[in-house]
Amino acid sequence: MKYSKRLGTIVIAAAVAMMVLAAWANVAIVLSNGLTRVETFNLIWPLTLASSVAVILVMSVLYETLCDLVLQLEKQKDLARSVALQDALTGVSNRTLLMDRLEQALRQKKRDDVQVALLIIDLDRFKSVNDTFGHDVGDQVIREAASRFKNRLRDVDTLARIGGDEFAVLLSSVSGSAGAEKACQDLLSGISDVFQYSGKKIHLGASIGAVLADAEDTAADLMQKADIAMYKAKKGGRNQYKLFSSNMNIAAKRRRQIEEHLRLALSTGDGLDVHFQPIMAKDQSIISVEGFLRWTNESFGSISPGEAIPIAEECGLIDEIGAFVIEQCCDVAHRFPEITLSINLSSLQFRDQSLSWRIEQQIKNSGLSCSRFELEITEKLLIDQSPEFVENLGKLRKAGFRIALDDFGTGYSSLNCLHELAIDTLKLDSTFVASAKRNHSIALLRSAVALGHANGMQVIAEGVSNEGHREIAFMSGCDGMQGHLIAAPMERRELANFFDSHPQQRSEVA
Ligand code: GH3
Ligand code: MG
Repeated sequence: MKYSKRLGTIVIAAAVAMMVLAAWANVAIVLSNGLTRVETFNLIWPLTLASSVAVILVMSVLYETLCDLVLQLEKQKDLARSVALQDALTGVSNRTLLMDRLEQALRQKKRDDVQVALLIIDLDRFKSVNDTFGHDVGDQVIREAASRFKNRLRDVDTLARIGGDEFAVLLSSVSGSAGAEKACQDLLSGISDVFQYSGKKIHLGASIGAVLADAEDTAADLMQKADIAMYKAKKGGRNQYKLFSSNMNIAAKRRRQIEEHLRLALSTGDGLDVHFQPIMAKDQSIISVEGFLRWTNESFGSISPGEAIPIAEECGLIDEIGAFVIEQCCDVAHRFPEITLSINLSSLQFRDQSLSWRIEQQIKNSGLSCSRFELEITEKLLIDQSPEFVENLGKLRKAGFRIALDDFGTGYSSLNCLHELAIDTLKLDSTFVASAKRNHSIALLRSAVALGHANGMQVIAEGVSNEGHREIAFMSGCDGMQGHLIAAPMERRELANFFDSHPQQRSEVA
């Protein structure tokens, strides 16, 4: 609007100037013939003056307009530049600006020998904030977390949002690892206060990985190292910080390689297998058979589920592994129609609301009834009791699955949880029978069994590996037991032999 008005003025002034000039030229031509020089001058000077004023006016308006346009253009360029370097949600720097500043800081480090630290912060369990309170509240939490972090930092530091719930902090001149640790502590205490939105209280934590730059580190190296340390902080239980150390690098390299091999194994099926371990009742009949993932790799040899499963969880392969185990268990369930199959579910799988639907479909598609399967869950799920877990569990029970609580006694599940969630089987952790030689431990085992029975559960002793264990387990009232004394996990083809040699054998379908 401003510019169109000014352009209008320019056009009018230019038209007036042209008209005056044209009039001046005509008058000069017509009259100059019969007039003296003085008369001609007197005649044309007002016209000359008027046209000169008009031209000066046009030029000045034009000049002013051009200056304004250039200024405006500069402003727009600045804005575009800051938009390109700023995170839209929080207004803090984005990854591009962070990397730029990190490179500058590393150059300065070489020049002035200052210490540079990089921190990567990932909010803990942020998905559940979105799932419980909605994405809009999630956005507000991210904005407030950014502002709390910013308030805890110095002006010279750079705070950037580099992913969904992930931030990075560049401490461009820091007093060694003590300074970096102090910053980590400040940042953690910054978000430990409860977040409140329209009466809803949200408790949040964060995991921080920090690294001090070495002389030869590039910006990319620092990002990678801080990320490795952050991952360590997550694994260490979250809501904490870890400083990078070089041995973390070795572990991270192995982890990356295992992830690659696991992806390959899942696509080809090479090296992956499920072994089965029977669970036996007092009368020596088989209560069920538990499936265990086994993975042997050319480069790494046998990789324990304890190592493979957390990696599968982190890189999003856990559902594929779960489906593979269920497929193998279905095969055994077809071959031994009287046997119940026990399948372990990871707590992370319960964070997906479609878990119950997917498992039910897979079992039904293989022509089996869900009641042939018992799903083993861990105490951790009971303690957290996320809405997704409660919903999935309800649907699984409704579909007919039995539910077992695995490794009972290692966590801290309350009696209330056991009762409310209607668990069918309580599997006592192997430490119960292993330590039950002492009197007070036998009393503990007995009370755990009584607790299970009072809640209508079947109680199984895990880790029964000798006659002493068996005696203690049955003396304490356990309904069944599992362990190397009965049988170690075995390949599918060995199961038939086990059942054949067993007095209460199960028939196999030919
Ligand atoms: P962890 O403790 O392992 O970090 O668990 P997490 O739930 O925080 O999971 P993760 O860091 O892997 O995922 C971050 C989640 O943040 C994924 C997505 O649901 C959410 N998210 C990503 N970007 C946004 C965003 O812009 N707004 C909101 N509200 N949520 C986001
Ligand atoms: Mg997170």
